[in-house]
Amino acid sequence: MQRTILGFGRDAEGDWAARLACGHNRHVRHRPPFINRPWVIHAAGRASWLGRSFDCLRCDRLEWPVRILEHRPPDEVFNLDCNDELPRSGAPNRYWQKIEIESGRAMLFIDTLQIERSLCPGSVTAIPPTLAFHLLALTTVRGRIRSYRLI
Ligand SMILES: [Zn+2]
Repeated sequence: MQRTILGFGRDAEGDWAARLACGHNRHVRHRPPFINRPWVIHAAGRASWLGRSFDCLRCDRLEWPVRILEHRPPDEVFNLDCNDELPRSGAPNRYWQKIEIESGRAMLFIDTLQIERSLCPGSVTAIPPTLAFHLLALTTVRGRIRSYRLI
């Protein structure tokens, strides 16, 4: 998914990483001759990239972000009968969600990433900001959706 660049920082090895609006970081190394990003070395070069976007592979893999999140109640509790669907448009920017299944089985569909995943009791699935999804109940399903905001 394309994510806006909010800033830049260095990791423990001194390599530059872009801080993305989703809460993930993405390395932007300059290691010629194979990786050429001379713009990242200078402050003016980095500044010229603010507001542009990178493809975030961590969002595509539904990885929980590295930056700090705070839980924002109330949780949405859902009870579905077999074959019921629960469609959800994407959470706002800066908001992550966790789908937790308490009982039963469901399929998770994220069409924009071509993800189909079976969810069972105890499973917790991260949903990145702005990503639409829907659940299809394979049995009677009980679960909850928790919201978290990047701080
Ligand atoms: Zn991301």
